[in-house]
Amino acid sequence: MDYQDGTRCVHAGLPEPVPGEPFLPGPVLAAPYHLDPIEGPRPGVPGYGRPDNRTWQRLEAAIGELEGGDCLVFASGMAAITAVLHLFVRRGPRLVMPSDGYFSARPLAALLTDDVVYVPTAGPAPDYAGAAGVLLETPANPGLDVCDIAVLSARARAAGALSAVDNTTPTPLGQRPLELGADISVASGTKALTGHSDLLLGYVCTRDPDLHAELRNWRNLTGGVPGPFEAWLAHRSMGTLDLRLSRQTHNAAAVAELLAHHPAVRSVRWPGRPVDPSYELATRQMRRIPGVVTFTLEDKAAVDRFFTASALVRAATSFGGLHTTADRRAQWGDDTPEGLVRFSCGVESPDDLLTDLAQALDAAR
Ligand SMILES: *Cc1c(COP(=O)(O)O)cnc(C)c1O
Repeated sequence: MDYQDGTRCVHAGLPEPVPGEPFLPGPVLAAPYHLDPIEGPRPGVPGYGRPDNRTWQRLEAAIGELEGGDCLVFASGMAAITAVLHLFVRRGPRLVMPSDGYFSARPLAALLTDDVVYVPTAGPAPDYAGAAGVLLETPANPGLDVCDIAVLSARARAAGALSAVDNTTPTPLGQRPLELGADISVASGTKALTGHSDLLLGYVCTRDPDLHAELRNWRNLTGGVPGPFEAWLAHRSMGTLDLRLSRQTHNAAAVAELLAHHPAVRSVRWPGRPVDPSYELATRQMRRIPGVVTFTLEDKAAVDRFFTASALVRAATSFGGLHTTADRRAQWGDDTPEGLVRFSCGVESPDDLLTDLAQALDAAR
């Protein structure tokens, strides 16, 4: 099917039309389902809510279609990453992962194995010999460096290691890791994928049926499934993914330019700016550049003045939502400068956002 992004998002995972039924059927709220009292459980007929729920199975069909693989949804991004890292350590003790990626992935890996090699996303990449699995995150959160998925996943395969890409920041509309050769695409659906700042979700996609079966078994045994209501909200929200991302990217391009030319700003990273160190690779590898911009003001006091002066920018961790938000990462213990801000462009009207940002930056000086 050659439909473009907007069309695919609107239709992904929906059932065939049935007169009198809704476009997207409401959440199936069930722990057990009725069993046939004589026949007992039968394949294809839901029996219990941990392995089977038609609401999240529809969501899996939708995400899987956009990622180009078979999807399993999880209760959160971290539940999905746990499934992937555990899959890796069952094959061997050594993990390779980003030193500058999502901050909770590092202590998680340290719980699972003593043999973790941390690599900056900008490289250089080490020799993967002896590694069981390689986790990449690109663009890395919050620094927005980019790495070459096709090159690194081929190197992992040659070394006998599995590869996974954290695809949270770009979403499947921005980047398709499986097409680029990664074994696994894993992500938090909490951020731009669902985009309304109202639910937690994670997912894993793969084209390998054996890996898919192993991950499904892990999920059945550990039980980290999303609630049906969250899954339904997520599916409902994905219909506008193309629209939301388009506005966010448009806003980010203008925001990055404003930041780059403002005297209060010491540095700015956005992979869509031609002068950004990630630009060449990002524009070659990604289908669109996400709405997240990272910049640095002088210190915490400058960020405080920025927030106080802004009427539109909400302080919040997380990103990718409808509302423009900003997060001073050092307050979470991230190893970043005191004045570093991860700025997530929402879908506000560009002129309003830029006017507000300009006066907040003036006040930050
Ligand atoms: C938020 C995030 C996660 C974790 O997702 P949760 O849904 O909060 O568990 C993982 N990776 C990246 C890049 C993230 O931004």
